Amino acid sequence: MVVPLSHSRGAEEYVYGPPTPCAHEKGMRENLLNGIQNKKLAAVAEKAIQGTPVSEEDAITMLTTNDILELGAIAHAVRTDLHGDRAFYGVNMNLNYTNVCELRCPLCAFSRDEGDEDAYLFSLEEIEERVREAVSLGIDEVHIVGGLHPGLRIDYFEEMLRRIKGVKPDLFIVALTAVEFDYLARMNDLTLEEVFGRLQDAGLGALPGGGAEIFDEGVREVIAPGKISGTRWLEVMRTAHSLGLQTNATLLHNHVEGPEEVVDHLSRIRELQDETGGFKTFVPLTYHDANTKVKAKRAGTTGFSDIRLYATSRVFLRNVPHLKALWMYVGEKMAQVLLRFGVDDIGATYHYEKVVHAAGAPTPDFGSEAHLRRLIETAGLDPVRATADYQPVKRDRIA
Ligand code: SF4
Repeated sequence: MVVPLSHSRGAEEYVYGPPTPCAHEKGMRENLLNGIQNKKLAAVAEKAIQGTPVSEEDAITMLTTNDILELGAIAHAVRTDLHGDRAFYGVNMNLNYTNVCELRCPLCAFSRDEGDEDAYLFSLEEIEERVREAVSLGIDEVHIVGGLHPGLRIDYFEEMLRRIKGVKPDLFIVALTAVEFDYLARMNDLTLEEVFGRLQDAGLGALPGGGAEIFDEGVREVIAPGKISGTRWLEVMRTAHSLGLQTNATLLHNHVEGPEEVVDHLSRIRELQDETGGFKTFVPLTYHDANTKVKAKRAGTTGFSDIRLYATSRVFLRNVPHLKALWMYVGEKMAQVLLRFGVDDIGATYHYEKVVHAAGAPTPDFGSEAHLRRLIETAGLDPVRATADYQPVKRDRIA
């Protein structure tokens, strides 16, 4: 699909209103081309301006370039064209309902076996209580992921969502990865359509993008051999999209992947997006290896590697509207810098997050709304508080 810069959509398609003056109106298109000396990046910029999808070879060029300012200029032009000066954040809670998981993937620091001293499973009463407490903190959304617990059936999840809606009917619920949906279908002898339908009836609003990791089978065999394949992950998402559920897509990097596997991953997401249009956000995740069985490439990623990955994703996945840099994974300062390298969403407050912190992320386990707004404002952008479907939330809803 050809979507040139500045002509990608009509203002009526923006749920949050038309963007502020964009790349085209500011004459940035010309400046963009004039300012790029690297010939390969200039060719990428030309394609970005014309709306021609960039090639896998272009993606490798972007992922390996040292000209990060030129790459960033291209990514920022695409980001500005899509969202103007807006940058999004959310006010939410994380609900990691259990850490018991059958798979015990080598990459995972969060999971436990049933019976382990620190294994846990929240009762429905506990969940309701936690949500009630978080509502008093002013949340708009509940983000739910957990492990593959062999003792849980679909009625637990239906009742969980109903109780959450019972606490506050307009809470937006983002729940369960493709891996959990596949498991629920198998454990309950239901089709995916039936599982999605039942949870939609109970209040499901959208799916997070976890479990994608890296689609390449060789890499998957090392980091998560028991997990559904990349092909199955995409099938689950295709089904969700066909039922009107929007989803995220993630990519886990900083383990054993190389640039080719990253590009393959991006390509497969772009392909499915061309077919369904159901991915709203792409979310690269930095791998942290504390308490896992797979060593990270580096204790932390470098600024250059983060910038290359996010900017490349923005340019390559031109058909996925949003690019999120979770401040909790990349650090607040890097998340802020990435707002000028293609990112338009820095994540949310994440009250009670457990998964990435089990793997040693050094960030605090929640960010205040004031802090997230300050990060966006001091990057020269306009903060928009939104739920995962990018519906803006009026700030007078803050408790
Ligand atoms: S990564 Fe997910 S599926 Fe794998 S062990 Fe951890 S919780 Fe389970």
